Amino acid sequence: MNVDDVRRLLLGTFVRPPEETGGAPRVEAVFGYAVSHRDGLVLLDTGIGAADEETEAWYRPRRIALEAALKEHGWTLDDVSLVVNCHLHFDHCGGNPLFSGRPIVAQRREVATARAGGYTFENLVDFPGVSYEELDGEAELLPGVHCIPTPGHVEGHQSVVVECNDGSLVLAGQSHDTASAWSADALAARARELGHGDPLPSYPEWVTKLLAFDPRRVVFAHDAAVWTPS
Ligand SMILES: [Zn+2]
Repeated sequence: MNVDDVRRLLLGTFVRPPEETGGAPRVEAVFGYAVSHRDGLVLLDTGIGAADEETEAWYRPRRIALEAALKEHGWTLDDVSLVVNCHLHFDHCGGNPLFSGRPIVAQRREVATARAGGYTFENLVDFPGVSYEELDGEAELLPGVHCIPTPGHVEGHQSVVVECNDGSLVLAGQSHDTASAWSADALAARARELGHGDPLPSYPEWVTKLLAFDPRRVVFAHDAAVWTPS
């Protein structure tokens, strides 16, 4: 498997209102990613779930069915052997109920937060046949496919690193909203080796962990822009 073999799936869009952007409304994409691993197809995130009336009016989401997004690449839902959620907000786990009986990987603290209520839509988190593989921190799910906790957006957030034949790829999820936000943290993490002294910006300690994989690309859940190393 090469870096180019990991596919991005457009699963919908929504409009972030001015109250959240601090300016004009902003249309944001929702991306999932499919990794065609020799041990099975791994899917990161499952799209925008059905929400209540208030949330629908707030975000005005337009959904693209997961089946249709997979079909563009010649896959069906049955091909998916493992689902990973970066976190369990409704725009990331919307298609989880399609995977009754199949393992869904999330951080244990994220599942607990989602089940505590007031966080997401519970019917997307728990449904007949749901089977979570709950992680306590880092894990190698399949050879070369790693989950790395990346708290910030939410405490239970995780990202996925895929080690390919031609380099590694970070599926960051919503560790950062944009590629440029990641870029700033990646530079902050390297500021001293670049010769900069104090004062320097802080950055999450896990940025160093992701950079240690020497990623050729970092991709995001809500930004089509892709980071590449300089
Ligand atoms: Zn999101």
